[in-house]
Amino acid sequence: MDVREVLSKVSGLDKKEVNEIWEKVKVNQKRLRECEGPHNFEQKGEGLRATFVCHKCQGELKSHEHIWYMRGLEHGKK
Ligand SMILES: [Zn+2]
Repeated sequence: MDVREVLSKVSGLDKKEVNEIWEKVKVNQKRLRECEGPHNFEQKGEGLRATFVCHKCQGELKSHEHIWYMRGLEHGKK
């Protein structure tokens, strides 16, 4: 059983839906990886459900991922 089959079983989503999500995740990771950087994030939404979209690459991070990215930038300056 591959990862997508497992995700389909545990999430209750059918395979087509899992594949669509999988493709979106892959596209997003590729955008973030290939960004000239540093990312220039704009916040969309509030609180824990907020997402952060980069103006340069259109890549998207969840709230907790953005916190670690910004902390990494700060520490990188030291
Ligand atoms: Zn970016």
